[in-house]
Amino acid sequence: MSERQTVRLLLAAMALAAPGLLVLGGLMLSGYLAPAPGFIAGAVLLVLGAIVAWRHLTGLTALHRRIESLAAHDEDLKIDAPTLPELSLALGRLVRHWQDRQRRLAEASEAANRILEALPEPLIVVDREHQVVRTNHAAEEAFQTRLVGRELATGLRHPQLLNAVDSALNEGQSLAAEITMPGPMNRNYSALVEPLGKQGALIVLHDLTPVRMGERMRADFVANVSHELRTPLSSLLGFVETLRGPARDDKDAQDKFLTIMHEQAERMSRLIEDLLSLSRIEMDEHTRPRGQVDLRHVLGNVKDMLSIKSAARHMRVELDIPDWVRPIPGDADQLTQIFQNLIDNALKYGRENTAVEVSVTRPSERELTVTVTDHGEGIAPQHLPRLTERFYRVDAARSRQLGGTGLGLAIVKHIVNRHRGHLTVDSRLGEGSRFSVTLPA
Ligand code: ADP
Repeated sequence: MSERQTVRLLLAAMALAAPGLLVLGGLMLSGYLAPAPGFIAGAVLLVLGAIVAWRHLTGLTALHRRIESLAAHDEDLKIDAPTLPELSLALGRLVRHWQDRQRRLAEASEAANRILEALPEPLIVVDREHQVVRTNHAAEEAFQTRLVGRELATGLRHPQLLNAVDSALNEGQSLAAEITMPGPMNRNYSALVEPLGKQGALIVLHDLTPVRMGERMRADFVANVSHELRTPLSSLLGFVETLRGPARDDKDAQDKFLTIMHEQAERMSRLIEDLLSLSRIEMDEHTRPRGQVDLRHVLGNVKDMLSIKSAARHMRVELDIPDWVRPIPGDADQLTQIFQNLIDNALKYGRENTAVEVSVTRPSERELTVTVTDHGEGIAPQHLPRLTERFYRVDAARSRQLGGTGLGLAIVKHIVNRHRGHLTVDSRLGEGSRFSVTLPA
């Protein structure tokens, strides 16, 4: 017991015994009580007072310690206040309730944190001084830099966004803006700025880049198709005019023009065939093919189909299909289309009097690779990554002259994707090219 507690105990004992002591003193002064028993009774009164005061004081001290410990988050301390049972029970309930609320609050805050982190949209919270106070994982990924603790303007230098944040902070208005973030690859975002009252403002960014890219690609595609169709169409119209006018009676010119018109019409028809087949393949690109395909059979057919073309260029198609090759899962028509396009290209772009080699190898237990090798002009490395884009050609005039549509490799890529395979192209200028299709076996 500390000195302060001892003084308190003595004062409390004296206060409790005071009325009794006064009565004893009165009796002793008036002679009704002899001094000796009077002093003994006084001492007994003082001791009893001290015992009662001690019990209350220890109870209060325990409560005091308990409250102190709650403030310091020390939750293991036991309540020991035997003289104040109701008070300590009530305090115990308060503590349990308080702990429960604290736990639920921590859980809710943890869940909110996880939700923010898992959102695919970049989120940025700024305080009223434009300092970034928090971001989520998507924001760090998108901007490849840590924004927290920095002023917004130093991290994201975009005037429109900064104006929207100003309005949200000063006028409490939520605002949306479309912004383009400059960088190695421009990215388009739709930004929504929400005021958060005293907390500042929340910026939610929605990445519009894929949407804008899709729109641009569609527009390019329509322009390309129109361009591809316009040339043969205007040539057809021109010849029709000539046949009706100046060449009306010229038999030789008529034969010549009709041959050209036939070629142009065939070119348009090939283009439309390829476009239709591309759109069909794209439509079922996400469903896996169900059939079983015998590659020996497919490659043999393609070789036969192209025999006139190869003979015309004095070229040979050499198949090398080992005995271990078994049927693979796939769509026979589509795999025929792949190898027809690849072997047709090899015959178109290969040198006359050379061979086109088609071989099957096994890169792993679960895969099989068909390689089409030609000995032709080859493709410069800068063209390789774009070769499978629609209408991408190394030399457009030459491709058209050879009857190409610029869609063959785009079709190949989509079919290979549908079969969960991959296409690789290897080429050396002046030596030839090697197109390899790897498929699950
Ligand atoms: P195309 O109908 O023009 O042949 P593709 O999509 O089949 O269209 O091929 C795209 C372009 O790739 C061709 O225009 C050509 O420039 C190039 N290419 C394709 N295959 C070969 C090859 N075997 N050798 C050289 N260049 C090729």
